[in-house]
Amino acid sequence: QPTLSRVDRPKSHEAFARAKAVIPGGVNSPARAFGGVGGEPIFMARGEGAYLIDLDGNRYLDLIGSWGPLILGHAHPKVVAAAMEAAQTGASFGAPCERESELAEMVVEAVPSIEMVRMTSSGTEAAMSAIRVARGATGRNRIVKFAGCYHGHVDALLVSAGSGALTLGVPNSPGVPEGCTRDTLVLRYNDVQQLEDVFRVHGDSIACVMLEPVVGNMGLVIPTLEFRKALRELTRKYGALLIYDEVMTGFRLSYGGAQKLFNDEPDMTALGKIIGGGYPVGAYGGRQDIMKQVMPAGPVYQAGTLSGNPVAMAAGIATLTELRNHAPYTRLDQLTRKLCEGLSAAATDADIPHQINRVGSMWTLFFTPVEVNDLDSAKTSDTARFSRFFWGMMDRGFYLPCSQFEAAFVSAVTTEAEIDQLLIAAREVFSSGI
Ligand code: PMP
Repeated sequence: QPTLSRVDRPKSHEAFARAKAVIPGGVNSPARAFGGVGGEPIFMARGEGAYLIDLDGNRYLDLIGSWGPLILGHAHPKVVAAAMEAAQTGASFGAPCERESELAEMVVEAVPSIEMVRMTSSGTEAAMSAIRVARGATGRNRIVKFAGCYHGHVDALLVSAGSGALTLGVPNSPGVPEGCTRDTLVLRYNDVQQLEDVFRVHGDSIACVMLEPVVGNMGLVIPTLEFRKALRELTRKYGALLIYDEVMTGFRLSYGGAQKLFNDEPDMTALGKIIGGGYPVGAYGGRQDIMKQVMPAGPVYQAGTLSGNPVAMAAGIATLTELRNHAPYTRLDQLTRKLCEGLSAAATDADIPHQINRVGSMWTLFFTPVEVNDLDSAKTSDTARFSRFFWGMMDRGFYLPCSQFEAAFVSAVTTEAEIDQLLIAAREVFSSGI
């Protein structure tokens, strides 16, 4: 696929060629490969506050923030200072340190449904471990997930539904044996009827239901109140655990995540991204009786050489401290509303059919005339138009997610003037005949 970019980035091009020789596809995670929009990934030299600067010296207003973690922007001075101080006293001990309890206490204090928490090194590990604990605690095997929700590259969760209907786990990556996904039921997000039907048939063998309480991974999709209520009532009724995957939404939508915003009470929660302040951290937590199943308190095995890493803990503590003491959430909500309203007005003026979904500082502009509330409706988007929009914005210095099916994020160091500039650029791109 030829690139739609009109800007030459020779140093990025060279770096990509070098990377491709030794790294599969030239990247260490597919989401950054620009696979959905044609063209090559842009290699970054550094991050400064709200900006990314590429190898060729181009500056971009960053609307991704490393796919969520950098709510305070790049290289926030307090986060940098905390990480450096920790690094100077040893990278890893292979023994417990007090920073682990400090971050755990902050998480427990912030998220009402979490009484105990275990640190991991990624969101994938957090989701994977939460499922294991749910299965161990309930003695059941089946798990329920929703098409379009992403919970990391966990074997049992690498399944998405065939359009619409309930599918009994067909893996969507080679290398995931059918045995790994046989017990995974994939349902339609926001479909209460389907959820009720599945519990009626399989309720006694379902260990847990896992979902993103606001979805970022099919583009932004918002749960209905009715759906959230049904999830809580049905899981309680049938003795299954309700797991919120707040890897993206945790400390993003409020200081206690989506569940605090909605006043929901899941049994378990997966966290990641923001709680590590940009360093590799994940975590899973929940009620004490459940978390006490985890080894060495209980029989469910889960471990990690670098789990609770002191440098990552320090960055996480500094990030949460800043968020707690100077909560940016109201301002972020207003700023992102302005951004989305402006984008919608600009698209309307250019006669471009669109839907914008937003919660707080997470948002997606879908190029479709239909309301987007699940994977099927998200897929009605005009992805070719999205690609043209993406490159038009990129070439003007605005770094948006390189897929229609990813949420964008606004960081707390973004200014209103920068949002104004973004809207001017978007008007230009929309009126250029995309
Ligand atoms: N859950 C959700 C909701 C996510 O968005 C992600 C990553 N985008 C993960 C889990 C996996 O986290 P990680 O990439 O840190 O393994």
